[in-house]
Amino acid sequence: MAMQMIYGTRRQDAERLAQQARQDGTKLKRDRLTGQYFATSSSQPGKLYRVSMASGCECKGFAHYHRCRHYSALLAHFGII
Ligand SMILES: [Zn+2]
Repeated sequence: MAMQMIYGTRRQDAERLAQQARQDGTKLKRDRLTGQYFATSSSQPGKLYRVSMASGCECKGFAHYHRCRHYSALLAHFGII
């Protein structure tokens, strides 16, 4: 069975990361002026990572692995996973 990929992220990885995001309290915030989404950091209070469907997330994890809980939270938010 072909693995389903979502913008380079395996669906099962994205689902697991979205689950972690829910558990660690990662929240998505939307800038009302720009419509841009930001995700809170569980490890650094007050830190926000910009996330988008088109470009992913700006955190180090995403830069390295092309997946992270912030981006996965966005996928879950839009009902993609
Ligand atoms: Zn991230």
